[in-house]
Amino acid sequence: MNILIIEPSRLLQYTLEKIFKPYATTLHITESGRQAREIQQQNPIDFICLSFYLQDMDGVDFISEVRTQEWGGETIPILMLTSKKDQKVAEQTIRGGATEIFQKDNLAALENYLQLYAEHARQQASLSGDVLLIDSDMIQAQEILDYFINTQLRFIHFTSAEQAADIVRAAEFDMVITNAILSGSMTARALIREIREINDTMYRVPILAITEATNVSQRLELLRAGANDSIQKPILLEELSIRVKSMIQNKQLFDTVELQKQQLEELAVKDPLTKLYNRHYLLHIIDDILRESFRHKFPVTLLVLDLDHFKQINDTWGHSSGDLVLQGIANLLLKTIRDSDKPIRYGGEEFLILLPHCKLDDGCKKAEKLRAQIEALNPAEIPVTVSIGVAQTSFGSHISFEQLFGSADKALYKAKAAGRNCVIASSDHEESSFKTAKK
Ligand code: GH3
Ligand code: MG
Ligand code: MG
Repeated sequence: MNILIIEPSRLLQYTLEKIFKPYATTLHITESGRQAREIQQQNPIDFICLSFYLQDMDGVDFISEVRTQEWGGETIPILMLTSKKDQKVAEQTIRGGATEIFQKDNLAALENYLQLYAEHARQQASLSGDVLLIDSDMIQAQEILDYFINTQLRFIHFTSAEQAADIVRAAEFDMVITNAILSGSMTARALIREIREINDTMYRVPILAITEATNVSQRLELLRAGANDSIQKPILLEELSIRVKSMIQNKQLFDTVELQKQQLEELAVKDPLTKLYNRHYLLHIIDDILRESFRHKFPVTLLVLDLDHFKQINDTWGHSSGDLVLQGIANLLLKTIRDSDKPIRYGGEEFLILLPHCKLDDGCKKAEKLRAQIEALNPAEIPVTVSIGVAQTSFGSHISFEQLFGSADKALYKAKAAGRNCVIASSDHEESSFKTAKK
């Protein structure tokens, strides 16, 4: 920041110099309005701090002078320092154009303000994003593009709503700025409505409308159509910049929170080692599936897979190799099983596969195929086999998950007893003609 301090007291000058120095690119200190005027004519100034009484004039008069100047005096922050606690003085100062007032006996508040101001400027300067600008006023559009040219914001400009409507379907933006008046037959209102209907992301994208100061109904209509905010012509570029950046910041913050929410949701239903759904997820969905199965008379078959002698694998190769084996098996399940037949890691080395619309015999055939694939897999170059128990829901009566699981688990136990590496079907609810493969 190029800072100008106007303060008659030498002691306070010294204190203010210390306070402002960390934020200053250049720092000019003077005691009179006349000298300040000269400094400001010869140097770029974008921040002023001054006293209520200067050596040769009132601070408020100096502010009025700055505010009417072309070089940007209208928009720069001007802080007033005063020892007066009078409410009227504060009011007069703000009316006179001061940005903020600070008491000389509470300079900590000034330091705090500077910290926040610098932090905001830093955040805004480092903000990156993609902005879609739709404006048929070429002079205004060029001014906007030029203003943002040295920022991290990437602008793409169109003059008609038709062109913009095509691009918003193909690319994502962090913000849309549209003039109320566009070339082409599609209006800004129609464009905003269309953007809002594309998808969830575009439903949330911030839209800023540039409207004619004289046309209030147009402004209201664009806000009704879904614009988040409006800015009136002639545009003050500094104001546009602050609005654009804070709208983008909010949008990006929202995106981050949304992503974290999705990750948390995924973490709650998926097992971190294998990326398969977990037991919690199964228990969440199973009742609905079984109820539907009974009501609409379609079968559901459950496969319970348990790796053979897995304890020995851990003992022989180490626990981390055991983990690699589990991941290898999980990847195979994810690759070979349809998404609707959700593979689940039910416990340590035990997996479930739920097959809606699948009869016991077909489930057994699938199980047998999996058994053979696992036998041939050699994950982490470790030979591993699996035993599988299979059970199907009954058409005649509603059965609970506990009953279905109990039947499949009993069949699994038989498979283990039969020498492992095989598939056994339960005959609790449905008879099967399936014959397990012999090893
Ligand atoms: P069986 O053929 O009768 O199923 O024998 P088993 O050794 O597979 O059965 P058991 O249930 O006795 O042992 C299961 C082993 O699985 C014991 C446990 O240390 C291991 N295990 C469970 N979860 C994990 C895991 O996340 N990583 C690894 N590496 N091992 C696990
Ligand atoms: Mg087990
Ligand atoms: Mg086991």
